[in-house]
Amino acid sequence: MADTKKKRYVLVLDSKKCINCKACVVACKAENGVPVGKFRDWITEERRGTWPRLMATFDPEQCMHCENPSCVRVCPTGASWQRKDGIVLVNYDDCIGCRYCMIACPYNARYFREDLGVVDKCTLCAHRVDKGGIPACVETCPSKVRVFGDLEDPSSDVSQLLNTRRYLVKKPETGNGPQLYYLL
Ligand code: SF4
Ligand code: SF4
Repeated sequence: MADTKKKRYVLVLDSKKCINCKACVVACKAENGVPVGKFRDWITEERRGTWPRLMATFDPEQCMHCENPSCVRVCPTGASWQRKDGIVLVNYDDCIGCRYCMIACPYNARYFREDLGVVDKCTLCAHRVDKGGIPACVETCPSKVRVFGDLEDPSSDVSQLLNTRRYLVKKPETGNGPQLYYLL
């Protein structure tokens, strides 16, 4: 029987655990055939202080699968679209390569595929999720930085974390409603 329960897939991230090994970046590229020089996820490094008191923090980033995605709003053909479970995707067949969505995305989450003439981005590994799996970046991370799950399910790990921990979302002022939650 088909699962008709409403779902809202999100990622909760604990950046403090990130060791910048980039296993998630490599796993994503391998899983999704991301072309050389393009990335669906990346690590932002911030260095503070002066030697010998240096501090570095690492922040894993990718498409935020926004609740109200500006990329979808500006797409003239409907190629950029959002599933009922919140995952934002690009339909290659309808993409005309105008790149409006790249300009509209406040998170620089999209890239142009010269080989196909289309725009591409993170899919939250929807092909794995639809078979009951989890995104490759989540599975691969040795530090378990990312937790993936359904925010509509109060017993899910993501719901439990967001109910008990403090967190932030990036650039809330955009009004996009990013669905990646960073634990403080
Ligand atoms: Fe950080 Fe995990 Fe990615 Fe390694 S795999 S860079 S620890 S998020
Ligand atoms: Fe669209 Fe950018 Fe939001 Fe991803 S992060 S859903 S590409 S606006």
